[in-house]
Amino acid sequence: MRHLTLLGATGSIGLNTLDVVRRHPDRFAIYALTANASVAEMTKLCLEFRPRVAVMADEKAAGQLEQALSSEPGIEVRGGKDALCEVAEVAAADTVMAAIVGAAGLLPTLAAVRAGKRVLLANKEALVMSGQLFMDAVIESGAELLPIDSEHNAIFQCLPPATARDVRASGVRRILLTASGGPFRTHSAEAMRHVSPREACAHPNWSMGQKISVDSATLMNKGLEMIEACWLFNTRPSAIEVHVHPESIIHSMVEYLDGSVLAQLGSPDMRTPIANGLAWPERIEAGVAPLDLFALGKFHFERPDLARFPCLRLAAEAFEAGGTAPAVLNAANEEAVAAFLAGNLCFADIALIIERTLAAVAVVPADDFDTIFAKDRQARLIALEQIEQGVG
Ligand code: NAD
Ligand code: MG
Repeated sequence: MRHLTLLGATGSIGLNTLDVVRRHPDRFAIYALTANASVAEMTKLCLEFRPRVAVMADEKAAGQLEQALSSEPGIEVRGGKDALCEVAEVAAADTVMAAIVGAAGLLPTLAAVRAGKRVLLANKEALVMSGQLFMDAVIESGAELLPIDSEHNAIFQCLPPATARDVRASGVRRILLTASGGPFRTHSAEAMRHVSPREACAHPNWSMGQKISVDSATLMNKGLEMIEACWLFNTRPSAIEVHVHPESIIHSMVEYLDGSVLAQLGSPDMRTPIANGLAWPERIEAGVAPLDLFALGKFHFERPDLARFPCLRLAAEAFEAGGTAPAVLNAANEEAVAAFLAGNLCFADIALIIERTLAAVAVVPADDFDTIFAKDRQARLIALEQIEQGVG
């Protein structure tokens, strides 16, 4: 029996995780569920899954949840950021799904890593911000880090388990990272300038949270994933080639020195990588529709257009710049995406804000987490200033 803490239970990954858990009551018990502020959704989940602890990051929301569950014995309600870290590191949970969106996920995910848990990593921003320190913590604690992002889970499945953390030891030539291309794959630069948040969030193949949907539309998601892959598999952007594959059936590929290319395929459904991580190294039913290749007929591949999608280039440059640059990239992106979703920034200016913020914040070695958080704050201030002034 695995005892699970689910960070970000009310989100897209959280709900997909609970859907897999629901199918296997003999394998998984929920120790803790966490969310930011969505009280109604959390109340429903608590009544169904009966966690020992329910945490709301927002203190006011915690009070409301406590009230909603006042007649339910056995569910302790807690509030605040420290409680998120405590349920991630507590001995009563052996497995932590890290599915908070954005930088807010870093400290709780790190708490789970430092406590040596099986950590199912969906929260890619945590790894992008603090790559080396994060991976050092994994090695030091012996945590079992399993990638949930569909591409990284696919790569992981295509690597020999013993050397999965180091592609150089696995005889790998290249990683072929697939990308759907997002909703604006065929839009001209001009047509992309003024797309709405609703259009940006209407992903052709995946149903996801708003932030990652916008990231998929700018291709920043692929940039963050490139950085994520560099840390998870010990490689560099030059050994990763993004392949736009609009069908989203091949979730990524690994090319070996002997010319073999291994791919992982499946319907675009996050329950597959989630079930893979939850049950690893076993396989369990995930409720995913079988793949019908006859119905699909053809696969297509294109090179990404870096002129229309500069975020991919910015991410590779930030990784190469090293130190705190990826944390700055991530922070500026989070602020720009939030402003776009709020109607305060046009789609094409997301990349511009990130580029200007990267240029304005000096890169320093990412020697400790305080330095990373300080750069994160500085980058947000600069990005917000530029958003307010208007890009012009
Ligand atoms: P989402 O917006 O649907 O859900 C986010 C969850 O985090 C919610 O439960 C929310 O309550 C919680 N949360 C938000 N802000 C918080 C804060 N400040 N403090 C504590 N909790 C907070 O997001 P999602 O689409 O499920 O994505 C979650 C993570 O997984 C992201 O890092 C994303 O990049 C990654 N991911 C998602 C998918 C997908 O299919 N959705 C695929 C691959 C990777
Ligand atoms: Mg992905």
